Amino acid sequence: KISEKYDKVFHSGCRDPVAEANRHERANAAFVVLARNKEVEGVVESIKSVERHFNRWFHYPYVFLNDGDFNSTFKETVMNYTSSTVEFGKIDSESWGYPDWTDKNVAKEGINKQGDAAIMYGGMESYHHMCRFYSGFFYKHELLQKYEWYWRVEPEIKYFCDITYDPFIHMANTNKTYGFTIAVKELKETVPNIFRYASAYKRTHNLTSQGLWEMFVEPKEGYNQDGSPKKGTIPPSELPRDDPKYANEKTKPLPEEILNTEPGKGTLPEIDPEAMEGEVYNMCHFWSNFEIARLDFFRSQEYEDFFNMMDRSGGFWMERWGDAPIHSLAAGALLSPSEIHYFRDFGYRHTTIQHCPANAPARQEAHRPYYGPRNDPLEKPTYGTPALDKEWQTWKEEDDYWAK
Ligand code: GDP
Ligand code: MN
Repeated sequence: KISEKYDKVFHSGCRDPVAEANRHERANAAFVVLARNKEVEGVVESIKSVERHFNRWFHYPYVFLNDGDFNSTFKETVMNYTSSTVEFGKIDSESWGYPDWTDKNVAKEGINKQGDAAIMYGGMESYHHMCRFYSGFFYKHELLQKYEWYWRVEPEIKYFCDITYDPFIHMANTNKTYGFTIAVKELKETVPNIFRYASAYKRTHNLTSQGLWEMFVEPKEGYNQDGSPKKGTIPPSELPRDDPKYANEKTKPLPEEILNTEPGKGTLPEIDPEAMEGEVYNMCHFWSNFEIARLDFFRSQEYEDFFNMMDRSGGFWMERWGDAPIHSLAAGALLSPSEIHYFRDFGYRHTTIQHCPANAPARQEAHRPYYGPRNDPLEKPTYGTPALDKEWQTWKEEDDYWAK
């Protein structure tokens, strides 16, 4: 649980975004968008929203990545909707698709089986590639080398509140590494073995939890997620962390079938509950289609080792491990709660899941949207592209309506 104890909203209510933008230099950061040509419409929808609610003041650059080539329609259309620098990159074959140590036939069979079992996206080869790319490669792309921070954007996302301060600068100033706005439960059948491997990584590297790992562990019967006993059931002295039963957890040897998983075979062993020493994944993960994070977290040796161990298990093919639980469990193993930031003030939606600050506790104070027209320094459209200027009238009418 990322509680108020570790982490607070950066600003309550709205700032003057122009003043905020003038107050700081830009961070060394970019938006990162992985997309296909056919998604251009959804991408435009996303950029419009990002520009309207944030980037018209802050002007961060965009990096678009694709395993194929972006066509000129995609490039030209996208550039109509931002005055920021835009770069388009192709992903090399090393970073997308089967690595050469994988038995492709085994992997494809695994994928087909998941298709037959109607696991969400399980039978879709390209989706598996996408998840592996976002888990272990995006931060290595040459176009991202110059950046220290990224903000992930997907097609068909929507921000519905103005973001009137610079989240990168605020994260940097408060020593944050990873920011999220939605945490949800993963579909169990997509990741039956993921936690066993993540847990094994933690143990083989002698990592002691810094307090974030527990966020991903199913509470034992009678306990709450934060480790406190459920009211009227178990006294505090019996909290799991004080239980001598778990004192030697780190030194227990790994189960044979994990030690014997041959690199290159890529076939996961059957589930053995013993292997997790009583720890069970609660399926919680940061929903990674929104992420603001430091790239050096992913570029660290620790993350590299984590990714390699996960990758070598074959879980990106034999199961449908998403980059969201991969990023989340890596954070759980390597970061402390104080390095995580919950952007509880960002109104955000992707497909059917959304986070609305107005639904959060302390709503009135935590969030008062910046309804431009009252003191909008941009009374006249100055977005810098004709297509965005055209949008401006609609946005203004909408803002005026809500400001009433
Ligand atoms: P969902 O949000 O989990 O339903 O998955 P999406 O279909 O939105 O995919 C996640 C991200 O990866 C989006 O940014 C997609 O545009 C991108 N993506 C998914 N598959 C591919 C692919 O095969 N090629 C490329 N270039 N991008 C992809
Ligand atoms: Mn998506």
